[in-house]
Amino acid sequence: MELHDENSFKIRSYQSALIALERGDQDIMTLSESELSKINGVGKSILEAIRQLKETDSFTLLDELIAKTPEGILEVLQIKGLGPKKVKTLWEELGITSTHELMEACQSGKVAKIKGFGEKTQNTIIANLEFTASNAGKWLFADIEETIEGLQAKFESLAKDAEVAVVGDFARKMEIIHQAEFLIATDNPASISSALTADGSFEWNLAQSGPKTLRGQLQELDLQVWVHFCEQADFCWKKLAFTASALHLQTKVDEKETVAQKLRKGNFSTEPEFFSVNELQFIPAELREGFGEIALAKENKIPELLKDEDLKGILHNHSTYSDGKHSLRQMAEHCRDLGYEYLGISDHSQTAFYAGGLDVEKIQKQHEEIDSLNKELAPFRIFKGIESDILSDGKLDYENEVLASFDFIVSSVHSILNMDVKRATSRLITAIENPYTTILGHPTGRLLLRRQGYPIDHKAIIDACAANHVVIEINANPWRLDLDWRWVSYALEQGVMLSINPDAHEMDGYADMKYGVLVGRKGGLTKEMTLNALSADEIGNYFDKRLGKIKVKK
Ligand SMILES: [Zn+2]
Ligand SMILES: [Zn+2]
Repeated sequence: MELHDENSFKIRSYQSALIALERGDQDIMTLSESELSKINGVGKSILEAIRQLKETDSFTLLDELIAKTPEGILEVLQIKGLGPKKVKTLWEELGITSTHELMEACQSGKVAKIKGFGEKTQNTIIANLEFTASNAGKWLFADIEETIEGLQAKFESLAKDAEVAVVGDFARKMEIIHQAEFLIATDNPASISSALTADGSFEWNLAQSGPKTLRGQLQELDLQVWVHFCEQADFCWKKLAFTASALHLQTKVDEKETVAQKLRKGNFSTEPEFFSVNELQFIPAELREGFGEIALAKENKIPELLKDEDLKGILHNHSTYSDGKHSLRQMAEHCRDLGYEYLGISDHSQTAFYAGGLDVEKIQKQHEEIDSLNKELAPFRIFKGIESDILSDGKLDYENEVLASFDFIVSSVHSILNMDVKRATSRLITAIENPYTTILGHPTGRLLLRRQGYPIDHKAIIDACAANHVVIEINANPWRLDLDWRWVSYALEQGVMLSINPDAHEMDGYADMKYGVLVGRKGGLTKEMTLNALSADEIGNYFDKRLGKIKVKK
């Protein structure tokens, strides 16, 4: 609507209706018209749009707008940093209607010359276009999980007597999946292969395929699919080989041979047997990255990795006090019903006005509600927390006496993300050195496949956390998974604990915990080093002890 200069009142009425509908609890498609019309901002035209959506998956206004918009413009609108107004200017002044044309105009310097753009904006657009292009065909683990499991089931039903395994990135639980890769053990690859080629849901690239491998992609999704065939007898070693990273395969097991060379001998019939034949402790699939796991396995030092059921509570969550979708009570009861012992609520702090950050008055109100809920829900416990913005100078977002009223504080950067490594690192370290910081939230602010985080000196940050007994969050939101798992082992070596935090903004958000566990395991995380594997009593004591220390210092 903004792109096509619709009336600004009309735009605003759609915006506020959308916000109200998204905040609601129920699926709008199942609500009756009288229920819908009770929702704030839902007037006649929105009702009509929803009525049409139910019947046709679209509505008149949307159809009209899309008909007026060149297809490529919709892609340009996805480029970060380009709002509808800027896209409209580019379209009108330079005739840009595709990302390709936009790149050309940037490279020839035309975009910088438009009023309101400039050199800096042009460079940002180029960087974002490159980032988007480099991510084409890549998927978040969580977004593609179901598709890959569906493909496995499909292959299993197509090849009834064959063994089918998911291998590759997905089998190693990588945070980003480049392709869905499968290994099928069969005596008759030709018949499965021809069944797959006849299947309309794939588009096979026959030039890149052969009798032992089919390469192609899904028709409906931009996802590469690779299918390898092997004989029954080779299934075990090939599965190990196709699952491991190249670095793992190249690692020497002893003076003479690498993992790959050991695998090719095939002198074993199960995965555990491969490791025991080579005098290695069993290495779980997610650790087969070539990050030192072979050396650990030789010394029997692969730890028992964290499991979902080790987690006893959920920290870092939002409620309707700030920008969450569900009330404190709903968040607490749902957490309890899932079997957890405690909830750590940490709504946004006052500077985050765009997310309904809490002023001091609201904090008091929330604390009173927590006290009464704690009486009612005992032995379940709610801990009083806040997600304090780390201000541009590294300070936290309240006076010390307010900070002292919380059980725990997650300190996170949400604004002024455009920093160099020096500035970002010192900003974070100032926050880490603040005695009220309990947990460092999403350390780099990255959104996988969407935006790179600000650059930080990971070692310096982790060392500072070790020195100040600050826990680092593994933000379990599939877009974040931040701290990156590649830094988990360094943190553990320095004695830094981690916390698997879903950053839930609604009850369903708790389900993301599993993705945090997956990447924690990739980094070698154990139950002993996970903050929220502590019981309610243990973590209560932990928080009290920390606060006690600050008071003694004063
Ligand atoms: Zn945050
Ligand atoms: Zn948060």
